[in-house]
Amino acid sequence: MIRLNPNYEKLQSDYLFVEIAHRVSKHIADNPKRKLIKLGIGDVTRPLSPTVIRAFHRGVDDQASEETFKGYGPEQGYLFLRIAIARNDYHERGCDSIDESDIFVSDGAKCDTGNFQELFASDIRIALPDPVYPVYSDSNVMAGRAGFAKNGRYRGLIYLKGNEVNGFVSSPEELKNNPADLVYLCFPNNPTGATATREQLCEWVQWALNQRTIILYDSAYEAFITDPSIPRSIYEIPGAEKCAVEFRSFSKTAGFTGVRCAYTVVPGALEIGGIKLQDMWNRRHSTKFNGVSYPVQVAAAATYSAEGKREIKENIDYYLTNAKTILDAMNSLGYQCWGGLNSPYVWVKTDEDSWLTFDRILNGADVVITPGSGFGKMGRGYIRISAFNSAENVREALERIVDLIGKM
Ligand code: PLP
Repeated sequence: MIRLNPNYEKLQSDYLFVEIAHRVSKHIADNPKRKLIKLGIGDVTRPLSPTVIRAFHRGVDDQASEETFKGYGPEQGYLFLRIAIARNDYHERGCDSIDESDIFVSDGAKCDTGNFQELFASDIRIALPDPVYPVYSDSNVMAGRAGFAKNGRYRGLIYLKGNEVNGFVSSPEELKNNPADLVYLCFPNNPTGATATREQLCEWVQWALNQRTIILYDSAYEAFITDPSIPRSIYEIPGAEKCAVEFRSFSKTAGFTGVRCAYTVVPGALEIGGIKLQDMWNRRHSTKFNGVSYPVQVAAAATYSAEGKREIKENIDYYLTNAKTILDAMNSLGYQCWGGLNSPYVWVKTDEDSWLTFDRILNGADVVITPGSGFGKMGRGYIRISAFNSAENVREALERIVDLIGKM
């Protein structure tokens, strides 16, 4: 008789954003006349830049004539895009160890971060930050690497503590008595906005090299790093090409959340027991994925032109100005905050149940934020406020929150 994957039963109730959507729909139904402002889900609001749109149109026009028509493309991505990525995102930043053969273009960092665990044995020990983007834990639960959850944590997974003491950047010291085979890191972090210094990343790379283990490094928000002393890629750390995989996305960098384009870097130097992870990922990618559409890749490549870079930076700066507005307003209310400087997220300590704060701000200010507890046990007592909205809406939302909380 057919049987289902029993691991799905272990997944904790609703995915965070499904629960938010449910509460927001009810609020809209109950209050149809009130203007709702969303600073919750991390989705961009600004349109694609003019240079990207022109390239996108060119890519579509190419599909209209026999001479330029493209059918299936290479599963790994067109060479023109992989070369542009290697040159601009790595060589120009001094990461000479990375070249185009290490780049695998995909339709999202969500799929890549969720799928990469397939390359590893089912009984390896996984360490991941708490709080963090929920895809890392849930994809490992689905794959059978964890037991049922208790008190917000899956049995069998190793959680790295993010808290006020370490500024939401954990250290490999935590794994001294509880060694892991694979560790997920995410900087700038979703949800806390924390970034890791060069020294902190060096510590992780040294640990991974010594332990002969692997770091899966999610840098989907690297474009928001403005402080030149903070690494934007793990490959800025010598030796990382022998122990780390990096996930990047055009989603937040260039507004591609609806267009879908990302990439994963699997360096050729990364081997386990003489087997190249790059060969395994290539096999997996070629078997289960048929490439990102050609016009989307042409549009993504345009982000690396001089005009494209300038326009994208303008959009990033726009969101960072919003983040500063949020940070200033929450600080003015006396809240302790993290992130918001090299990240589009502001992480606020409220010291009460996160869903309670969520409901209070939704009902009292008609503003949607994200409860920190949705990102892990350590997120309880915190909320995440996203800078992805228009400057006008962000200002109005924060005025309403200041008004609401100031009166309490
Ligand atoms: N990684 C992190 C840390 C994210 O926060 C997100 C989206 O919110 C993603 C990856 C997903 O990116 P993509 O749109 O490329 O799937």
